[in-house]
Amino acid sequence: MIVDYLIVGAGFTGAVLAERIANEFDKKVLIVDRRLHIGGNAYDEYDEYGVLIHRYGPHIFHTSSKRVFDYLSRFTEWYPYYHRVQAVIEGKPIPIPFSLASIRMLFSQKLAEKLEEKLITHFGYGSRIPILKLKEIQDPDLSFLADYIYRNVFEGYTLKQWGLRPEDLSPSVTGRVPILVSYDQRYFQDPYQVMPKKGYTALFRRMLQHPNISILLGANWKEIEGEISFNRLIFTGRIDEFFNHLHGPLPYRSLSFRFENYPQPWFQEVGQVNYPNEYLFTRITEFKYLTGQNFLPYTTVAYEYPEVYDPSKNEPYYPIPRDENEERLKLYQKEAAKLKTVLFAGRLADYRYYNMDQAVARALKLFEGLTR
Ligand code: FAD
Ligand code: UDP
Repeated sequence: MIVDYLIVGAGFTGAVLAERIANEFDKKVLIVDRRLHIGGNAYDEYDEYGVLIHRYGPHIFHTSSKRVFDYLSRFTEWYPYYHRVQAVIEGKPIPIPFSLASIRMLFSQKLAEKLEEKLITHFGYGSRIPILKLKEIQDPDLSFLADYIYRNVFEGYTLKQWGLRPEDLSPSVTGRVPILVSYDQRYFQDPYQVMPKKGYTALFRRMLQHPNISILLGANWKEIEGEISFNRLIFTGRIDEFFNHLHGPLPYRSLSFRFENYPQPWFQEVGQVNYPNEYLFTRITEFKYLTGQNFLPYTTVAYEYPEVYDPSKNEPYYPIPRDENEERLKLYQKEAAKLKTVLFAGRLADYRYYNMDQAVARALKLFEGLTR
């Protein structure tokens, strides 16, 4: 088989590039994926109860990029959705990100007022403070608050999720969920917070529907490498796997999901409830909130159990952002730079903790640099 572009991986990165190349360059693209479906980790499907579930964990779309939003809007209509999250702290469901509203629910009025005033004076109303930054502040009341939030929200959750303490990861990891000096109870603050009306897989189907695009599923790149001639290869899988672990494996973190259906309309108060301090799972997500299937009499939820990544058993869901891994990544990036016809992009190939919109933005940027 001869194609202009061979793309490994049918997730957001591969699909955006396939669509752009097929439409704008009018070139033939073959997209291969080892899984039996398109969509990568954003893949969704209906379970046996008719609930639209996310097979590889809950995916909530949010972006501050108008460009990414406009681009994806060509392939889907949207369902407006503000994700709400609670964490069970001292047995009570408390809004996350931790905010002034959370303080009010946990402390006496007098203490809450004092902490609120200190936070506003110190940082300004509307600020977003990463927990590791808050911990550095030299003020007895704010230190008390920082320690409280660290112990009750971040420490246990992070140990479960990563097998590491918050300070042993890049500060950007816990910085994804900053303390909000406001009463905003949304998990994200981006201007665009929407879900694809018919789901992600339907969005991908529309994106990849083009006579220039062929799709080969259930095919590992390594196994078909010799059978396809191409001018260029775009690789969105693990960069260390591509180079046969030449510089040692890059570590990843994995998860297993337990899906449960309950014969009742709703299971919990909000889309996601985190359990930083109890149980082996980190969180429970109830899909109907995300998809708007309010009319169904049943509900399906996913429990997430963090796991060590083992290529023979599970999936490399998360790159692990920390200095020593960045050093190893650089060695692989040097190898990648030597290859003139192979391009690397995506959460696994860039080894970056991208959200979907960042994966799309990365792919659009890569495309801009391509010549016919
Ligand atoms: P992927 O979606 O991982 O796609 C890569 C594809 O390449 C896979 O399908 C894989 O099978 C295939 N592949 C890899 N190696 C090979 C090979 N050798 N041969 C053939 N095929 C191969 N983002 C958000 O914006 N909001 C969220 O709420 C959110 N929640 C998430 C929850 C979880 C549990 C996870 C793991 C991720 C979440 N994300 C979320 C991130 C989102 O999944 C990624 O940003 C996005 O999927 C990245 O797209 P990608 O194409 O780079 O990678
Ligand atoms: N986190 C935490 N407690 C929470 C929520 C998040 O400790 O209640 C930390 C944890 O380290 C987690 C990180 O913040 O891995 C990022 O959280 P996010 O919800 O963005 O994770 P994702 O949805 O990508 O798994």
